[in-house]
Amino acid sequence: MWGLSYSRARKAETTIECRECAGKLNAERTCHEVYLRCTKCDKVTDVQDYIHEMDDALESFMENVFCDRV
Ligand SMILES: [Zn+2]
Repeated sequence: MWGLSYSRARKAETTIECRECAGKLNAERTCHEVYLRCTKCDKVTDVQDYIHEMDDALESFMENVFCDRV
């Protein structure tokens, strides 16, 4: 089903907690970059800073970004 094309999502909710405020982080992306934005304090963090805390949501989000590479 095209309607559930997860690969086109530009944003994904993760279960990772912000180090600043313990809010939940959303994974977001620009054309070629992925970053994490806190849903609570709005702090933007590089994915690398949380790479060891990566959950399934972030992992599939990252995979989809890499699939977009030409
Ligand atoms: Zn935060």
